Amino acid sequence: MTADELQAALVRRGALLDGHFRLSSGRHSNRFVQKFRLLEDPVLVEQVAASFVERTSMLAPTVVVSAAVGGIVLGYECARQLGTLGIFVEKENGVPALRRGFRLEPDDRVLVVEDVVTTGLSVREIFEVVRTAGAGIVAVAIIVARATVDFGVPTVALLDLPIESYAADVCPQCAAGTPISEPGSRFLRG
Ligand SMILES: [Zn+2]
Repeated sequence: MTADELQAALVRRGALLDGHFRLSSGRHSNRFVQKFRLLEDPVLVEQVAASFVERTSMLAPTVVVSAAVGGIVLGYECARQLGTLGIFVEKENGVPALRRGFRLEPDDRVLVVEDVVTTGLSVREIFEVVRTAGAGIVAVAIIVARATVDFGVPTVALLDLPIESYAADVCPQCAAGTPISEPGSRFLRG
C-alpha cells in the first residue's frame, strides 16, 4: 500500500478530515485524523498491517507490542500476519504496564506498532515497558506520522502528514472567520 493509496483510503473512510478544528491541545488545525474510522475497518487494517509486515518481517520480530486501545486491533492483525503473539501495554494505576499475564523474554525481538504518532509519547511508553522487561526492540511501525520523531530504532511510517497547527490568536482560519468544529474534542488527536 503506497502513501497515496493509504491517504485516499483514509479520506474515503472519513479518517482524515479537512476543516477548522480545535485539537485537544487547544491549538487550531486544518486537519485531523480520526483513527477509529480506520481501525473499525478490518480490510483496511489488514492492508495496513501487510505493509508493516512487508517492511519489517526481515527483522524477524518474535512478538508485536502495541498500546491500548487503538493499538490492540492493529497489533493483533500484525501478529496474525507475522505468526507471532500480539500483546499490549495499558495503564495500571496511571503507569504503562503489561497486564493480563502478558510476558516478554530477554531474547524477544519486539515490533512496536502504533496508529497515529503526534508527540511520540505513547511509543516511548511502550519502549520503556519493553526495555524494563529486558527485551529488544527491532523496529517501530506507524500508520500516520504527524511529526518526525527519532525513536532510535528502524522506523516505518506509512504516511507522513506533518501537523499544521496554530495558537487561536494567530489561526488563519479564525482570521478568515471560518467557524470552528469541535466534534468531541477528546477524540481528536491532531
Ligand atoms: Zn482557528
